[in-house]
Amino acid sequence: MSHRIAIANSDVAFDCAGNESVLDAAARAGIELPYSCRKGVCGNCAGAVTQGEVGAAGNGAIVNETCLPGQVLFCMCAPRGDLQIAPVSWRRIDPAARKRFTAKVYRNQLAASDVSVLQLRLPAGQRAKFSAGQYLQVALPDGSTRSYSMANAPHESDAVTLHVRHVQGGAFSARVAQLVPGDLLEIELPFGAFSLQEEQARPVVFVAGGTGFAPVKSILDDMLKRRIDRPVTLIWGARQAEGIYLRAAVARWQKQWPQMRFIAALSDGGEASGEDFAGRPDQALLAAFPDLRGHELYCCGSPAMVHAVREAAVQHRGLDAGDFHSDVFVEGPAAHTAA
Ligand SMILES: Cc1cc2nc3c(=O)[nH]c(=O)nc-3n(C[C@H](O)[C@H](O)[C@H](O)COP(=O)(O)OP(=O)(O)OC[C@H]3O[C@@H](n4cnc5c(N)ncnc54)[C@H](O)[C@@H]3O)c2cc1C
Repeated sequence: MSHRIAIANSDVAFDCAGNESVLDAAARAGIELPYSCRKGVCGNCAGAVTQGEVGAAGNGAIVNETCLPGQVLFCMCAPRGDLQIAPVSWRRIDPAARKRFTAKVYRNQLAASDVSVLQLRLPAGQRAKFSAGQYLQVALPDGSTRSYSMANAPHESDAVTLHVRHVQGGAFSARVAQLVPGDLLEIELPFGAFSLQEEQARPVVFVAGGTGFAPVKSILDDMLKRRIDRPVTLIWGARQAEGIYLRAAVARWQKQWPQMRFIAALSDGGEASGEDFAGRPDQALLAAFPDLRGHELYCCGSPAMVHAVREAAVQHRGLDAGDFHSDVFVEGPAAHTAA
């Protein structure tokens, strides 16, 4: 049975089947609500239901610790009748803008002992349209998909670059180092809403854990290309120094923005030297900022790391929860996405 969902303070409404998530139904109707993991972890899709009732769309919980009172996770809930919802934000999208490509590996380099930088070229004449910070899905032979953030800026649209951390036993990542030029991969993009709020001019802090650096690199390269000049701090966390696998990119940004502050947070702290911080990214954030009011923070990495950084920033340094933006690298196959 289908129900009608209206967005408060707008003339937008769409239909949603009783077992479909509100997020998927909105996407099918060309309305994008904020989202990232689609698995009830990151909390990006949290919003209020102002009229009507919702229940679980699957087995997972419809609220988590990121939800404010009265909020639910739109990726996890389905309507039990007609609804009115108040998402944090929404925008119209063209469902046809998401495209599938057969991409060809043209370079594959080991950037660290457990990180591959994989460059894929699209078929001749085809262009990938995405915003800096978004991700793609790679289709695996068993029909499942894995998500990876684009690390290149959107103006380099005939190719995509991925930073893939090797997970032991991983269906895709453990084999990625064996890909050679000419190998083909089925990819679909773009997905996600981890993008710089362009209307803001406030100081911006990026916190990346491991390959969570990939979307941050895309955003910073894009800012450079488009001459967006804002006070920038980058905190990049890894266990050891070799995990900060692209210091050359950081040096390039620092040349352009001499005020840019860079902190490598090394959690196996014995190795930290010079400017590097011995500790986790959330600890580096607390040490670097006595107060984060008036800042915007973009955080990307594992669920545990994003959770710790959110707590440090919002609970201990006064960052407005609405100024915390995150992309969470939730493990395993991507959740179903609406066509
Ligand atoms: C929006 C989004 C963007 C992402 N972007 C990136 C990216 O840019 N770079 C990147 O490296 N990864 C990224 N990921 C993670 C990626 O999608 C895969 O989950 C990861 O590469 C593992 O896939 P796999 O097929 O190798 O392992 P799977 O076959 O899915 O898993 C194999 C085993 O390893 C475990 N496992 C999987 N991932 C992890 C992990 N991270 N830590 C510990 N155990 C794990 C699983 O539970 C399972 O037991 C992203 C995830 C999301 C949701």
